[in-house]
Amino acid sequence: MMPLPRYRLYTSARRYAAVARDVAAGRRLAGTACGELERTLEQQVGVAHAICAPRARVGIYLAVRALVPPGRKVVLSPYTISDVVNMVIAAGAVPVFADVQRETCNIDPSEVERLVDDDTGAVLVTHLHGLACEMDRLVAICRERGVRLIEDAAQSFGARFDGRPLASFGDAGIFSFGLYKNVTSIFGGMVVTPHDDVAERVRTELDGFAHFGLSPYLRETLGGVATDIATWPPLFRAFTYRIFRFGFLHDIGLLNNQVTVEANPQLRREIPSTYLRRMTPMQSRLVLDQLAHVDDNIRARIAFAKRYHDGLRDLPEVLLPPLRDDFSHMYTYFPIQVEDRQALLRHLQQHHLDVAAQHLKNCADLECFADWARDCPRARATADSVVLLPTYPRYSLADVDDNVRLVRDFLGRG
Ligand SMILES: *Cc1c(COP(=O)(O)O)cnc(C)c1O
Repeated sequence: MMPLPRYRLYTSARRYAAVARDVAAGRRLAGTACGELERTLEQQVGVAHAICAPRARVGIYLAVRALVPPGRKVVLSPYTISDVVNMVIAAGAVPVFADVQRETCNIDPSEVERLVDDDTGAVLVTHLHGLACEMDRLVAICRERGVRLIEDAAQSFGARFDGRPLASFGDAGIFSFGLYKNVTSIFGGMVVTPHDDVAERVRTELDGFAHFGLSPYLRETLGGVATDIATWPPLFRAFTYRIFRFGFLHDIGLLNNQVTVEANPQLRREIPSTYLRRMTPMQSRLVLDQLAHVDDNIRARIAFAKRYHDGLRDLPEVLLPPLRDDFSHMYTYFPIQVEDRQALLRHLQQHHLDVAAQHLKNCADLECFADWARDCPRARATADSVVLLPTYPRYSLADVDDNVRLVRDFLGRG
């Protein structure tokens, strides 16, 4: 059996070439693409304002600053990247962790209802793995209690709940165009909001930042090229896979850390100065060039999700995400949960499949966030048990079937 990689970027040779051409011709900052992208997304998402941001996390920081008075609470899921929590803190708010639902890995609306109080400024929801949160309930709770709603749609660009795009339900919504996302400008993001005053405030702050410098941008771009080469299937099978499989099976930290995000979470009470940048017209052109493919890619991932679901749904030992084909769940991955995750991963690697754990932590338990610790037992169990089955559009149904067969085999349900 010869595996496909656990992940591939949504980049392409054509887009790297576009970057190289723009850089060589000194055209990085030329043109009106930022405005074009903003107007296009205002239309597509159905919001009054879309504003280019250097990264999603900076968008979250700016949105919290614009919407939440200093010292007020922001209720959020602890099962997210730690820098999102940092941005809430850096923006002057107090994070309050609300436990998740096991099945979706997303914030539990009942917990939100319980935790919102007179000191709460906003609820920040994350549509993790491209699975929409329960927006009808969350919108109703926030409206009734008079608190702001912010949506982290960094993993769900293109998904919609009841036909309405994610990020358009709240007082602000944030997309990411980072290197690992389904639409990528290497670095990049977008803040959307229905409010004129919020848009004005976010724009004013961003106008004070310089554009991305050439060298940090090129460094990240080269990282993307290296990842694309290493995960190019012929090379991956001959070389990359063998090395990382060896690292996994022999527990070699140096190798394993190369493929682990969130290995070393740290508290930041201030936003790093390197985050304070503006997206360039070159980056906006990259995003504009990808918008036409977003829906097809979602359809491809939903088809993989369906196949996983059909193959695994009779197993009580495996907790599956809900299966929806109405575009509310766009399955950035197909996250399954099993009790002995490490043993399952070992079984898959031993049988030559490349699949990874979700490395996100339960931030409510992290030492660096001890000041805001809360007991979130479901987030704790989730963080220990999620395995991310691949769904990227260049994956194959044959590999999905192999994954399914080996999961069944592991559980003695072949
Ligand atoms: C990637 C990601 C972010 C951060 O996006 P950047 O553009 O890298 O800042 C925030 N939240 C979630 C859920 C993400 O997956």
